[in-house]
Amino acid sequence: MHSVQSTNTNVDQHEIARFNALASRWWDENSEFRPLHRINPHRLEWIDQLASLEGKKVIDIGCGGGILAEAMAKRGAQVCGIDLAGKPLEIARWHAAQVDVKLEYADSSAEEWATKHHQHYDVITCMEMLEHVPDPSSVIAACSSMLKPGGWCFFSTINRNPLAYLTTIIGAEYVLRTLPIGTHHYHKFIRPHELIQMAENCGLQLIEKKGLGYNPITQNFRLIRFTGMAYLLAMKKV
Ligand code: SAH
Repeated sequence: MHSVQSTNTNVDQHEIARFNALASRWWDENSEFRPLHRINPHRLEWIDQLASLEGKKVIDIGCGGGILAEAMAKRGAQVCGIDLAGKPLEIARWHAAQVDVKLEYADSSAEEWATKHHQHYDVITCMEMLEHVPDPSSVIAACSSMLKPGGWCFFSTINRNPLAYLTTIIGAEYVLRTLPIGTHHYHKFIRPHELIQMAENCGLQLIEKKGLGYNPITQNFRLIRFTGMAYLLAMKKV
């Protein structure tokens, strides 16, 4: 079983600085965060269908400005969002107050939060975050430890293959410019079987796998079977 790193060492400060610098535009649907806004209804629906969010204790790891965390709170979940970037958290709190949605935010890593929240949550979401940390398996171990037995854990990240490189780095960053150059680093991408293995090593079991399809003309996303680009995993703690 992979062990949880004990301190906040599993963080890339360049990534945190980058997210801090972009934070003010988090809720601007025409900014670099447009893809997250467009993906959100689809991932929310999928999570809610599987885990029935209403009344559930949920933690969103690497919540950023709170796009998913807030949407889950609107569905009636008791949500806490954590992140190590202070500015996105400020924006997340500000936005929740604007729209009068009740949820909590905290400045913490998954590993640190896990030391005080063992088997505390029914649902954990960790979306578009694992490709930004030095050691994803440590985050996954922390997630597993925070989850109640039978609880749901949702991950999403980007596959590592030439097609994913072409679409998410060359296409999105250099051609369509939907993401700023430097958003993603190919070597941090994770193949689905690697992520599944890391999660299984921590006592999580795969329930469902979805790919993320993007139509560059309509700029819409949808959940598809093909997981060759970005993908999402639904897992359960055994
Ligand atoms: N999960 C959100 C935001 C994704 S952006 C969504 O899908 O809508 C990635 C987020 O991960 C950023 O907010 C960044 O600050 C955060 N992050 C990166 N490394 C982290 C770490 N080690 N611990 C916690 N959060 C981290």
